[in-house]
Amino acid sequence: MLNHANNLQEKLTKYRRDFHMYPELGFQEFRTSAKVAEVLTTLGCHVRSNVGRTGVVGELGQGTPIVAIRADMDALPLQEDNHNAYASLNPGIMHACGHDAHTAMLLGVAELISWENNFQGTVRFLFQPAEEVADIEGFSGAQRMIQDGAMEGGVGIVIGLHVSAHVPVGKIQISAGPASGGVDTFRASILGKGGHGARPHETVDPIYITGHVILALNGIISRKLNPFDAAVVSIGAIHTGQAENIIPSKVDLSGTLRYTQPRVQKQIHAEIKRAFEIAKTLGGDYQLNFEIGTPPMINDRKVVNLISTTARELLGKENVFPLQNGLGAEDFGCFSELVPGAMFYLGSMIEGNEREHHNSRFDINERCLPIGAAILTETALRFLRNGSL
Ligand SMILES: [Zn+2]
Ligand SMILES: [Zn+2]
Repeated sequence: MLNHANNLQEKLTKYRRDFHMYPELGFQEFRTSAKVAEVLTTLGCHVRSNVGRTGVVGELGQGTPIVAIRADMDALPLQEDNHNAYASLNPGIMHACGHDAHTAMLLGVAELISWENNFQGTVRFLFQPAEEVADIEGFSGAQRMIQDGAMEGGVGIVIGLHVSAHVPVGKIQISAGPASGGVDTFRASILGKGGHGARPHETVDPIYITGHVILALNGIISRKLNPFDAAVVSIGAIHTGQAENIIPSKVDLSGTLRYTQPRVQKQIHAEIKRAFEIAKTLGGDYQLNFEIGTPPMINDRKVVNLISTTARELLGKENVFPLQNGLGAEDFGCFSELVPGAMFYLGSMIEGNEREHHNSRFDINERCLPIGAAILTETALRFLRNGSL
């Protein structure tokens, strides 16, 4: 399989550079998805466009079981600072997370699968818009695709990958269990009564109250949660005031929370509310809203076994490593919440010249492209040949 995939190196590099030169933001992947649909059609796929707005679903094979493979297609609002032949031609937009590579690799998977006839069932290719952003109603690309039926019809497992600038080419990272954090946002206002800075006793100072609320918010993780529960509460924005001698009437603050278990999510929500109740004790009031974001990505043990066994055979067992835990966001968790699924991190490091994700100098070592395509393809075929996990 790796040999087959290596024959696609040049083609996948071409795809990837093309997507890299014409990056598009979340839910605006018009050119990208048209190109994806065109290639899938050439490969004989059954293709459905405009799934979850700008997403594309392709299928090869027939009936069940179904294995779904996901790639995200969106870029970031960032001006590229690389000056190579394939640097972004769209000002202020850049593939700085590697989703161009994911899209190219999944096209490679479709081609590799199109060469196979020895399998039962269906391989479904999920080309997803907007992994990095949500739309105005708060839904990301994965959620929109699911709403449009992308996971219907009896999907058995879902798999995917993300390139990693910190892992050398030829190696992958994968672990069972939580692999990214669930993400919610809170937006709040502390309400007081404004007045003259020289006469604080005639006001209800919301800045003073906010000081206490901040302490309580920062105590949630350290004083309220079981130390073995991974979670974060971070305040990211505080806005108030116009002048040094005016006590304002309101402080706006917002923040993010991360968790890996629904139980902890519930607990954090309750504790955040409790922290804001301090405003009332101190004579003010508050408004608090939660925006529920994407769920945590939980890698299924059996799917992880399937991927890592496949990867060990393709790459050598010394090249499959456990994942470094983190509470970053990854909306693949929306798919793997529905059926057993797992995502692995594919080494794409440019040795001696590491390029950080979401940075204007981000780039990948394109040698990773056939490797990622081979692991996804072989894992999918093994699942279909076994008929179950
Ligand atoms: Zn990203
Ligand atoms: Zn990403």
